[in-house]
Amino acid sequence: MNARTSEELIRAEESLLAHNYHPLPVVVARAEGVWLEDVEGRRYLDMLAGYSALNFGHRHPALVEAAHRQLDRLTLTSRAFRNDQLAGFAEGLAALTGLEMTLPMNTGAEAVESAIKVARKWAYEVKGVAPDRATIVAAAGNFHGRTTTIVGFSSDPVAREGFGPFTPGFRLVPYNDLAALEAAVDETTAAVLIEPIQGEAGVVIPDDGYLAGVRELTRRAGALFIADEIQSGLGRTGTTLACDHEAVRPDAVLLGKALGGGIVPVSAVVARREVLGVLRPGEHGSTFGGNPLGAAIGSAVVELLSTGAYQRRAAELGEVLHDGLAALLDKGVTGYRCRGLWAGVDVDPAIGTGREISERLMQEGVLVKDTHGSTIRLAPPLTITREELESALATLATVVT
Ligand SMILES: *Cc1c(COP(=O)(O)O)cnc(C)c1O
Repeated sequence: MNARTSEELIRAEESLLAHNYHPLPVVVARAEGVWLEDVEGRRYLDMLAGYSALNFGHRHPALVEAAHRQLDRLTLTSRAFRNDQLAGFAEGLAALTGLEMTLPMNTGAEAVESAIKVARKWAYEVKGVAPDRATIVAAAGNFHGRTTTIVGFSSDPVAREGFGPFTPGFRLVPYNDLAALEAAVDETTAAVLIEPIQGEAGVVIPDDGYLAGVRELTRRAGALFIADEIQSGLGRTGTTLACDHEAVRPDAVLLGKALGGGIVPVSAVVARREVLGVLRPGEHGSTFGGNPLGAAIGSAVVELLSTGAYQRRAAELGEVLHDGLAALLDKGVTGYRCRGLWAGVDVDPAIGTGREISERLMQEGVLVKDTHGSTIRLAPPLTITREELESALATLATVVT
């Protein structure tokens, strides 16, 4: 039992933990489904879902059962040996994405880093780019993680400043601008790396035709199209992948967050055989990547998505979210972008910063996260009920009006 109050725990955290986050002052002690409970027993509706790591809610029974079952049998072998969970996981990911091979990793940033390495190697070995000349084109406003290489091609000064020097070989173009992308792609281009919807940027949805355009352009240029679906994928937008909205199949898809069921970190590069086929023993790896516990949970996640029910639910409830936000336009909300159960909501700055709105929502029992300025992001578990979603929207209405 936890005898310490929220206030005491926050004070201890502030003195002992690096201040790389500024969490809302809520100390969660337990959770189930879409509901969180703090140390004092107050309940909150989780409208963030761990940045989409909790697409299936907290402690989804099928995922917890898969975890328990695997915990009692085998948790880690390292890839020095094989384990009986990995083949099934890779089969599931291939069926889910329509791609052929999997490189299992742990965190999202590792999947991105792995894809960068693989794209470069592919450029030298398959495309024939001159040694050390490969470039990767990414979009301004991107969020791909926090490693030194990745923040090196971020356009967010807060993410970059003070962390250089950075890895060369990246070009940034404006997001949702095919002409700019075309101008940046040349014979050195290994890959175009983009988010099909930019989450951290405020749920920025490109124009219809952009993803198909990126596909066509990369195909013509002989460059790889790598879609970072770490936040947008696995049901969030009403389809398995956000790229499915344009029926586009990238050369490589990066998955993470919800792939670990909100239980353990599991990520993957899922790609065409020609792409991941460039890796040979010793050239890349991870001690925990492909561990049987993560693979068992990942397989259970793939299984949950295999009927399409969660995707349909996200699409249907996405309409409710869309309508609820539309009703708030000019009533404290100046704009919003929404696809499936995922929305970026621009609150009138006169009403408060995103942080202040988040704090007021917290006091009303709804947890969200601000992105930049006065924008908040809504991404509830896909298991939320219509009534719960409507109640969260009603709370938002009282806070912004
Ligand atoms: C969260 C995220 C990452 C990084 O994932 P971590 O597990 O935090 O390293 C990469 N890309 C996108 C689009 C993300 O949302």
